[in-house]
Amino acid sequence: MFQSEEQPAAPACRPHPFPRHAAPPTGKQVAVIGAGPAGMACAHRLAMLGNGVTVFEARSRERMQAAPALEGEGAREQLAALLAAGRIRIEHGSKLGLNLELAELHLSHDAVFVAVGLAAGRVLGLTGDEAPGLRDAGRRVTAVCHPEDLGALAAPQRAIVIGAARGAVDTAARLKRLGAQDVTLVYRHGLEADGYEFETARASFVRIRTWAWPLEVLRDERGLVAAVRFEQTRMQDGRLVNTGGFTEIATHAVLKAVGRAGEGACEADDSVRRISREGDRIRVDPCFRTALPGVYAGGDCVAPGQEAPQALRHGRLAAQAIHADLQS
Ligand SMILES: Cc1cc2nc3c(=O)[nH]c(=O)nc-3n(C[C@H](O)[C@H](O)[C@H](O)COP(=O)(O)OP(=O)(O)OC[C@H]3O[C@@H](n4cnc5c(N)ncnc54)[C@H](O)[C@@H]3O)c2cc1C
Repeated sequence: MFQSEEQPAAPACRPHPFPRHAAPPTGKQVAVIGAGPAGMACAHRLAMLGNGVTVFEARSRERMQAAPALEGEGAREQLAALLAAGRIRIEHGSKLGLNLELAELHLSHDAVFVAVGLAAGRVLGLTGDEAPGLRDAGRRVTAVCHPEDLGALAAPQRAIVIGAARGAVDTAARLKRLGAQDVTLVYRHGLEADGYEFETARASFVRIRTWAWPLEVLRDERGLVAAVRFEQTRMQDGRLVNTGGFTEIATHAVLKAVGRAGEGACEADDSVRRISREGDRIRVDPCFRTALPGVYAGGDCVAPGQEAPQALRHGRLAAQAIHADLQS
């Protein structure tokens, strides 16, 4: 599931196949579940915007038909180049609900896009009004939150905050103000030494740990959060890779800070607005956000009975919304 050092590095003399019009790397990592039209359109657009993408697909490589035909000039070539450059990776045989857990994916990625087609159903826990397991204070991640939502939480003694950019450091600083004694802010990548994040953390007595990829939440015998296991990361050829070195940080709570760019930041889709409130399909807002912050969905699993162009459109629009949220 994670990039390791064992993967062969591109020879220095070979021209890098990264597409010319793609944005520079943002350092953000997004998980896409399902390699159908919605999933691949989303992966393509996210990667063109500079994000790292891993697609988790239930079917084996052999059972996959040809890749969905993406719309737009040069999209097929761009997708091939993004795959060759490792900006998009596809993990075949990874089935949500079987050998893949939404909670773990959510922990180890900045955002998750669910595009499992008609296979959605209640099993994902995203169809109701309640956000699923991640708000379960004991067993998994204490909360997925925006700094403004923290007032409702009892401050834990020790906390780890995972997240991107300003939202994460604001969450960590707020936790300290609410009475948490030991707060560690963990980033998958490095930080500017005198940037906003460092300054805010220093002023609030928040510890910072950089270059660490969250792997799993470890629990004690009562099932309560006890620690988080991380793998060290580094940059290789412009992308984040895992190094094989592990570390554990003890904690009572894990908080994942997520961005919230607001509805104006995304292009809404009318078909979603119209029919996403019926039946068993995954409910999303007009920006493809599900009830769980940081988890998005699109394609047939939010609006079944449409045609492939609609799924492609969902994938593209969701990618724009995810990217905007991650930048906020
Ligand atoms: C019989 C039939 C004929 C159709 N004919 C046409 C047509 O001629 N023209 C047209 O435009 N549209 C057609 N459609 C509609 C079109 O196929 C869909 O609108 C489109 O494929 C939806 O795309 P999607 O990405 O949302 O889902 P899908 O294409 O269903 O892709 C979902 C992907 O997620 C994977 N997946 C599922 N569950 C899991 C899991 N638990 N974990 C990980 N991965 C998972 C699946 O293996 C699949 O690769 C047809 C649909 C059907 C059923």
